[in-house]
Amino acid sequence: MIQYTDTLTRKAYAKINLGLDVIGRLENGYHQVRMIMQTVGIYDVLTFAPAESGIRISMDGGELPTGEDNLIYKAARLLMEAGGVKAGADIHLEKHIPIAAGMAGGSSDAAATLLGLNELLGLGFSREQLRQLGVRIGADVPYCIMGGTALAEGIGEVLTPLPPAPRCALLVAKPDIQVSTKYVYEHLDAEKAWRHPDIDGMCSAIENGELAGVTSRLGNVLETVTIEAYPVIARLKQEMLSCGAMGSLMSGSGPTVFGIYDSQEQARAAYDCLEKAGLARELFVTSFV
Ligand code: ATP
Repeated sequence: MIQYTDTLTRKAYAKINLGLDVIGRLENGYHQVRMIMQTVGIYDVLTFAPAESGIRISMDGGELPTGEDNLIYKAARLLMEAGGVKAGADIHLEKHIPIAAGMAGGSSDAAATLLGLNELLGLGFSREQLRQLGVRIGADVPYCIMGGTALAEGIGEVLTPLPPAPRCALLVAKPDIQVSTKYVYEHLDAEKAWRHPDIDGMCSAIENGELAGVTSRLGNVLETVTIEAYPVIARLKQEMLSCGAMGSLMSGSGPTVFGIYDSQEQARAAYDCLEKAGLARELFVTSFV
């Protein structure tokens, strides 16, 4: 356990996608998306401490590079360069969000780093300025800075906040595989006639506080690629539904699957049911944040 004085500790929350549609491709190769983003109660904990020079990352619970490839490092360097900071920072990451799982763990760590170091070092960047820096690290970083329920368009960085999604309980299941977001987008067949999720209808259901309107519109076009490669995702979705979910979907590029339940009791019962099925490496009962 590392102990610092003058430290700042921040949570970096995971997200799920209640809806994910791809509507086109830009000249630079990026996909144009329409996504309903939702923060959930699974989070990493980051502790920031000032240092004389350099950026050092330490970590508990998870295997990741702690050097320049870590998105925390990239965020810290970008922010310190933008703020003309000569000093350094020590950053400790307690990793809980499953890695390469479609839950934006890396983007959320980057967002927490921009927010945390901005505060710790008194740099005075506005949220909007942090979002503009964040998109240079990843398309989901601006959303992770904002959090809550939102419609994300463009490459994911054009954000429209939505009212909080209706209350419910969630079961989140991560099978024992990691999926590269790049692989999934590269294998997305633009010629295929997808069933596009009803993103506008989902926004209205959220605005009207209709949980059934949300669960009936869950949809993610990336399932076409990831489920073909990893059929366990379809089995997990089926299991979630057999265990009483109102709806179930893969999040982001996968492989994480979530189920939406009426109550925490039902989600906990489904947890036991999924545990017995043995399809998931990690299971969480949580809710929207
Ligand atoms: P998204 O939903 O944004 O596509 P993801 O949840 O699928 O992301 P992440 O957990 O964010 O995936 O990780 C994607 C890759 O980024 C991993 O392969 C990992 O090596 C790298 N990475 C770098 N820094 C981090 C970090 N701090 N946390 C998680 N992954 C990181």
